[in-house]
Amino acid sequence: MSKASHHSPFHTLGNNATIRTVDVVVIGGGIAGKACALGLAQLGLQTIEIAPDLGNPLPSPAGPQWGQRIYALSPSTQKLLAHLQIWDALDHSRLQAVRDMRIFGDRGEQADQLHLSAFEAGTPQLAWIGESNLIEHTLDQAARFQNKLEQIADTVKKLETDVDGVTLQLENHSPVRALLVVAADGANSPTRASIGITTSEESYSQSAVVANWGCTKAHLETAYQWFLPGGDIVAMLPLPNKQVSMVWSTSPENASDLLSLTQSDWDKKLGLIADGAVTKHLGALTLNSAPAAFPLRKIRAARFIGPDHNPKFALIGDAAHVMHPLAGQGLNLGLRDVATLLNILSKRESFRTPNDLVLLRRYERQRQGDTSALLWVTDRLKKLFSGSSNTERQLRNFGLGLVNRSHFIKRRLIERALGDIDFE
Ligand SMILES: Cc1cc2nc3c(=O)[nH]c(=O)nc-3n(C[C@H](O)[C@H](O)[C@H](O)COP(=O)(O)OP(=O)(O)OC[C@H]3O[C@@H](n4cnc5c(N)ncnc54)[C@H](O)[C@@H]3O)c2cc1C
Repeated sequence: MSKASHHSPFHTLGNNATIRTVDVVVIGGGIAGKACALGLAQLGLQTIEIAPDLGNPLPSPAGPQWGQRIYALSPSTQKLLAHLQIWDALDHSRLQAVRDMRIFGDRGEQADQLHLSAFEAGTPQLAWIGESNLIEHTLDQAARFQNKLEQIADTVKKLETDVDGVTLQLENHSPVRALLVVAADGANSPTRASIGITTSEESYSQSAVVANWGCTKAHLETAYQWFLPGGDIVAMLPLPNKQVSMVWSTSPENASDLLSLTQSDWDKKLGLIADGAVTKHLGALTLNSAPAAFPLRKIRAARFIGPDHNPKFALIGDAAHVMHPLAGQGLNLGLRDVATLLNILSKRESFRTPNDLVLLRRYERQRQGDTSALLWVTDRLKKLFSGSSNTERQLRNFGLGLVNRSHFIKRRLIERALGDIDFE
């Protein structure tokens, strides 16, 4: 049940100056931050969201040009967005259902294939593919009509924690206070650093080159992925209107070469992947967007809440964890952080304020398992498929076929890919 907290909207500082106080400040204007801020306000909590990019509302994606950032959205993400009343408001003509996933080893042989199917899993679809802008734009629209939510386009200059809450000094606005601060400020989270939460980090020495393509053959609502010799991974995700979105993880040097290819260079490159498998499945491909590259790394924050003696902070999204995009799960995991935090706050006992230590510990405990499991699986897969010795090649190609024949393992893989959240 939603419940607002009742405290003074002003706080008196030592020098008698007053400062505006809200229940929660969310720092960050990515999808995790926007979804979290909206959900908190819907719970009746007075919420302020702060990020430099909130000043530039995104236009609704339209027309034949598809956005550069495309995501595979898991059913858990769909569930959260439905809970926030965002899912039905999305332009569904710009969402593509994925009914099959086909993952190939580097021999390109049918027997080395892992095939996951929505039909076999008894679910309508395994995932949806959509543009980042589509979701962000719809979240922006909803935020405009939510009177418990205020967005401030600014950067946080300084954070001061005391026994009751946190005072935030901003670059260009008056300071504000909050009982709880949610850090959703991305992989390099300045909030995480300023409250002294350490991270374990590892570079994959890879960049992901993304681009959208028109294809001459029907993609059959299938997401394809090829693990290539040497560690490159090429994913082709289906989009509406006979298009696919490519995510090619490769060395930074090759990534910068790929960015400058002409269409005819691309024709040759794509034709060579896994002995022509890409073109065999998708036909001729025509570039529909300028390719872009993103460096890839793994990050895990040591804590998902502020320091033990006085937490007052919760980390969500990439501020808490970053993973290789081979499983398309980073944002989905971040939105499960959001769902968990909203659940915990909505079910809190009436005597607990949103920054209660018990609630924050509950949040951290509940997010650790999901995060560790997904980071581990993604990292293991990445490393298994990067090995270039003959034994490693045979092991993984054989392994894909073996997993494909095990209904039990396939079921577990699908469950992990679908994610699970519940709202009460
Ligand atoms: C190539 C690629 C493909 C991917 N594909 C998928 C996929 O298919 N499915 C999936 O689930 N995930 C995918 N991911 C992962 C996904 O992109 C991220 O997990 C997700 O974007 C993280 O969202 P976020 O809101 O946590 O952080 P971000 O989107 O990074 O947002 C951070 C926000 O914080 C703000 N900020 C930064 N500094 C400050 C400051 N000092 N003060 C205030 N605000 C600040 C920024 O302006 C921004 O608004 C992919 C990633 C890559 C690289």
